[in-house]
Amino acid sequence: MSPGYELISQDELKELSSIFKKSKTLSRMGFDKIRKNIFKVKEFEKLFKKKINSKYALAVTSGTAALRVALSTLDLKKNDEVITQSFTFVATAEAIIEAGAKPICCNIDETLNLDPLDFEKKINKKTKAVIVVHMLGAPGHMGLIKKICLKRKIKLIEDTAWGCGGKYGNDYLGTIGDIGCFSFDFAKTITTGEGGMLVFKKKKDFEIASAWHDHGHENNPKLNRWEDSRKKSGFNFRMNEMQGAVGKAQLKKLSKLVKKQNLNYRKIWDEIKNFKEIKLREIPKNSYITADALIFSLQSKKQALKLRKELLKRNIMTKILPEAINWHFAGKWEHIKCIFANRSQLKKTQTILSKSVSIPIFFNMDKNFPSRVKSALIKAIRS
Ligand SMILES: *Cc1c(COP(=O)(O)O)cnc(C)c1O
Repeated sequence: MSPGYELISQDELKELSSIFKKSKTLSRMGFDKIRKNIFKVKEFEKLFKKKINSKYALAVTSGTAALRVALSTLDLKKNDEVITQSFTFVATAEAIIEAGAKPICCNIDETLNLDPLDFEKKINKKTKAVIVVHMLGAPGHMGLIKKICLKRKIKLIEDTAWGCGGKYGNDYLGTIGDIGCFSFDFAKTITTGEGGMLVFKKKKDFEIASAWHDHGHENNPKLNRWEDSRKKSGFNFRMNEMQGAVGKAQLKKLSKLVKKQNLNYRKIWDEIKNFKEIKLREIPKNSYITADALIFSLQSKKQALKLRKELLKRNIMTKILPEAINWHFAGKWEHIKCIFANRSQLKKTQTILSKSVSIPIFFNMDKNFPSRVKSALIKAIRS
């Protein structure tokens, strides 16, 4: 579904072996006497920030944890609000709730990401941050969104769970705002089984987040860990060495993965682009997508459902749209009352999503895949 796992091989095993053969240390810190100077998580962080041109990186246990840790830099109070988009994975909203703030969900625009107009409308005195999501590997109108954040003094956090390796202009996704959050779960572009990463623009944010993800430990180099300095209580979201080892090997494959995904995306689109009944998701100019999925809209919900049926008949699962929308559209989250109560404001999002179909992109794409998509389209539209 998302190709990181398609490329798991001896490279990951080699990285892991060096732990079991040499360092015999599974913790990211301490144990200096036995670890033979091997620090897999630290090395992964260093390589990751270099790869995406960021100054500070912090590995954590999951993408959800990354979002929660990002919010620890904000000192949120009970009535504070954090804005996000209504088309995302439920984790984005969960992190806001766990951080003690109120999640506010905006509509999306034709990029399928945060609508800058609705965003600006929802800002008030209680707004402390926005979490934009690069949904399914493509950014929204980040230039406009960033401008609004600067003008209104709102922290810009990027949920880059799906955007690892993508760019907006010259910037890697995750490095446009103040903090970028990545996921390495098993369905993401690169994977460590479970895992996540944060990147930061400001040293101060990095320091607060780093301490918070480790019970408040400041990791003062002059002190033993049991005597370490601290200012605030925190939690434990530390990544372990085995995840770090796998991450190092996966990261080396990132460029190749994203390039191939883009190639396969192009092959599918070339096969179907002449259908005048379909419209490709809007992709902002100058962006380089991760091409995790190919999304287009049809003329009606009925047509989209018909296409889904035809795709399934040809053994092609659609990705999230339309079938897995329950977990990805805020208007359906009846278990999160503060969001569900405002679902009537999300009609625009619902209308856009209900007409959209998402085709998953594989690294090892079957040669006939594009023509199978085309034949499903012919059947769904023309019969
Ligand atoms: C996968 C995902 C997350 C959560 O990441 P995990 O590593 O599974 O916790 C958060 N946001 C979005 C948009 C995601 O797709």
